[in-house]
Amino acid sequence: MARYIGPVCRQCRREGTKLFLKGERCHSEKCAIEKRNFIPGQHGKDRKPKIVGYGLQLREKQKVRRIYGVLERQFRNAYEKAAAAKGITGENLLSALERRLDSVIYRMGFGTSRAQARQIVRHGHINVNGRKCDIPSAVVKPNDVVSVREASKKNPTILAARDATAHAPAPNWIDVDREGLTGRITALPQRSDLVQIQMNEQLIVELYSK
Ligand code: SF4
Repeated sequence: MARYIGPVCRQCRREGTKLFLKGERCHSEKCAIEKRNFIPGQHGKDRKPKIVGYGLQLREKQKVRRIYGVLERQFRNAYEKAAAAKGITGENLLSALERRLDSVIYRMGFGTSRAQARQIVRHGHINVNGRKCDIPSAVVKPNDVVSVREASKKNPTILAARDATAHAPAPNWIDVDREGLTGRITALPQRSDLVQIQMNEQLIVELYSK
């Protein structure tokens, strides 16, 4: 599946906020938002656009899409599924994005960013319910057990990520055993669990329902 391979920090600068795409760097003074928080491009410094209506909806969609590292087609598909499911469409969408396998590995602290977690999944280091799963977009559900495969438990990247994220508590919808490099999904993530970055999912629903 295709993925964005351009400059990463540029995405945060375009949205004007930290999207936490680069692991530890995002918490350091090297963060581009700390140093150059203006729109990328030659005239970015001079551009202070007043965003309203469609522009607001578009920016919100782009922001959430970038946070989870999905391209437009996948994002649109996730929205269609969320709209067809029972419940509030915006919350269904965020719940499905949050339960992507790469996002779950990141939330469990076995990757310092979703991009790194995605690579860990792609490289075949992860089991879901005892079977290898190398599809970052796979969506887990309550009672699924997500674990680092036995042969990968000494993988230096995963161990370093676990140590680097020791200060970050796991969300309360995943029961994580950090020593055993495993975790069980105990519930669906609630909207109140997703507070690290401000998101207004209603704007995305308005955009796509036009
Ligand atoms: Fe770059 Fe992370 Fe800062 Fe975003 S939050 S600008 S990805 S360092």
